[in-house]
Amino acid sequence: MKVISLTNNSTNCYLLPANDGWLLVDTGLPDTFSHLLQLLFKNSISIYEINYLLITHFHPDHAGLVQNLRDLGTNLIVHEDQIPYIQKLNSFYKKNPRANFRDIVPHHIITVSDSGSRDYLQSIGIAGDIIMTPGHSDDSVSLVIDDNCAFIGDLPAYHLIEAYNDAVISDSWNVLQTHNINLVYPGHGEPYVLDPSRQLVESQNFLV
Ligand SMILES: [Zn+2]
Ligand SMILES: [Zn+2]
Repeated sequence: MKVISLTNNSTNCYLLPANDGWLLVDTGLPDTFSHLLQLLFKNSISIYEINYLLITHFHPDHAGLVQNLRDLGTNLIVHEDQIPYIQKLNSFYKKNPRANFRDIVPHHIITVSDSGSRDYLQSIGIAGDIIMTPGHSDDSVSLVIDDNCAFIGDLPAYHLIEAYNDAVISDSWNVLQTHNINLVYPGHGEPYVLDPSRQLVESQNFLV
């Protein structure tokens, strides 16, 4: 599968081919819409080709441009467990006004569940699942593409599991590993190959 990576300031935004266009994973901070447009332009992609948007979690650096895209016709896909966090982000910006954050309108959202996400993704031409992978935040999801790769947002990296020593993070990785992933696309930093033997080696080094 062809993945286009756009780094909007420090946030990785990923484009995956979907029916008649693209699915975008994450947007970057508010106030960066013109930068996102430039990044798309460099890749010869029109903003109007982004038909679908998935947000790994509703922190400002990932969800800052959601409504900007929706205003142009992009469909927002949200895991049902993420729904309350949309309003939390809106409330945050009401208390801390920041120019150009557009309130995320709570209507016409495509809502999926762990089990129902596969059918929905299939309908837009993507073979995979959207699964809850909390640990960085309670609303974190990963997009897992069949036998290939995962877009994990800000879930701490696999080789840091032991350093974090956090059951929620470990559980999320256990779930991810049942999907035969070999490539991980994080919300920040470079993609990495998942090597289950690496965690043991690196965590031993960490303890020395
Ligand atoms: Zn975050
Ligand atoms: Zn982040």
